[in-house]
Amino acid sequence: MASSIIHGKHLVKRARGDSSEVISDGAFYQRDGTIIDVGPYQDLRSRYPGETDIGGDSFLVIPGLVNSHHHGHGITSLQIGGLDDQLEYWMVENLGHKAVDPYLDTLYASMKLLRSGVTTVMFNFSQRLAKGLREDCDRVLEAFGPTGQRVAFSLYLENQYRIVAEDEGRFLSRLPSDLAARVKAMLAENYISDDDYLSLFQSLHQDHNDGYKVNVLLSPANVHWCSDRLLTRMRELATQYHTGIHIHLAESIYEKLIGLKLYGKTPLQHLKELGFLGPEVSLAHAVWLTREDLDIVGENGLTICHNPSSNLRLKSGIAPVSTMVARGLDVAIGTDSSSINEDEDLLQEMRLAHKLHRPPGVSSPSLDSHQILKMATVNGAKATLFEDIGALEEGKRADAVLIRLGNLVEPYLDPDTSIVDALIYRGKATDVDTVIIDGKVMLQGGEFVDIDEAAVMKELSEILKRPPTDKERANQQTVQELMPYVTRFYERWNLGELRPYFAYNSSV
Ligand SMILES: [Zn+2]
Repeated sequence: MASSIIHGKHLVKRARGDSSEVISDGAFYQRDGTIIDVGPYQDLRSRYPGETDIGGDSFLVIPGLVNSHHHGHGITSLQIGGLDDQLEYWMVENLGHKAVDPYLDTLYASMKLLRSGVTTVMFNFSQRLAKGLREDCDRVLEAFGPTGQRVAFSLYLENQYRIVAEDEGRFLSRLPSDLAARVKAMLAENYISDDDYLSLFQSLHQDHNDGYKVNVLLSPANVHWCSDRLLTRMRELATQYHTGIHIHLAESIYEKLIGLKLYGKTPLQHLKELGFLGPEVSLAHAVWLTREDLDIVGENGLTICHNPSSNLRLKSGIAPVSTMVARGLDVAIGTDSSSINEDEDLLQEMRLAHKLHRPPGVSSPSLDSHQILKMATVNGAKATLFEDIGALEEGKRADAVLIRLGNLVEPYLDPDTSIVDALIYRGKATDVDTVIIDGKVMLQGGEFVDIDEAAVMKELSEILKRPPTDKERANQQTVQELMPYVTRFYERWNLGELRPYFAYNSSV
């Protein structure tokens, strides 16, 4: 569809910090995927006669949502045998799970995301099989074709401390030699070298980065998982290619402690010292930041990609998001392939963020609905380096979501209540009716336009029902034998004293 008018009873043009620009009976006119005009529907109707109409009085129109941290998994850990646990433990356990075809897994994730109004995804590819990695990268990028989503793609890499937060040789030396050899072989199979990673980035950037549908970013998986040399080389390459860096940081309490142990400072302070930081750097999770760390985030214009569900599920804790926002820091939001209902519903994730960061006290900072919507739109655009998205304004890409008003306003909504409040308090993926990307309708009446959903589900189900391969069985056995050593390693750590006695009520 080359041109159309998209309209709703309410149209959110842009979410600002403490308010949103909302047009009643508002519309935008798009041509070839670019927004040409925004205003009252009747004005646009008379200015552009004969244009196709999308939407109507029963819809709320908002800018397309950005999921700012995701690993492209449509199939969840639960579905392949893993329960939620402490991040460090959970990650090692994951090594023993059945492999899922990366294309189908990503396509399924992309479908779930589209269904909740997501038009742009920060896709941090954490596939571990070194063999065929380039082909896998091509295939997962291809998997976003049928939904039409924009992708800020990065491949994540670790080159040290890959089992526990300790030198690998030292850790392996405590294992029975047969188990150590099997773990070593498993690692060798799962990781590429630094040099191979950097040249893979260059070729992916050359083949896929168009600054329009795909941005290719760099991604050291985390600070302590990468040598300083690797962090520096990635920084240099990001500067050379004018691209961004997406990195997990201070996700768990152990990650904060490993920073203090390894560098004598927090992981973020270490990155600062390496000259790693800048506005094109985004931090996934950032749960365990100190007050000084928050200063660094502000001074360097970093974006924090907040993942409330995942942080709860993997015992990572609660990030100080209300303080971050009160200090004017840029916070975006993502589901990390671990949303609370396993459905990647970003609207629900937004509500969780809204409810989670409400410390007691009449004057304690808490987030309002406009700030939450800004996290999922304007700030997501900054994190993913797509400048032309995040708001329904002239010149921006025509990425929009039409939400059925029924559940939001029926049987009654006080006329003084903001529709943005109603969205954040009540909106769900099931209310999403139509998703438009680049002016093209990709979801209509809650159904995919270019995807045979039943066929995808059938294929996924058939592929996953296969019995585990001999290799997968062997890996599962290795991981099972390894887990007690991982537990023993972390049990020794002193997590510090909580006062009075319970983390969430602690006064420190
Ligand atoms: Zn993650």
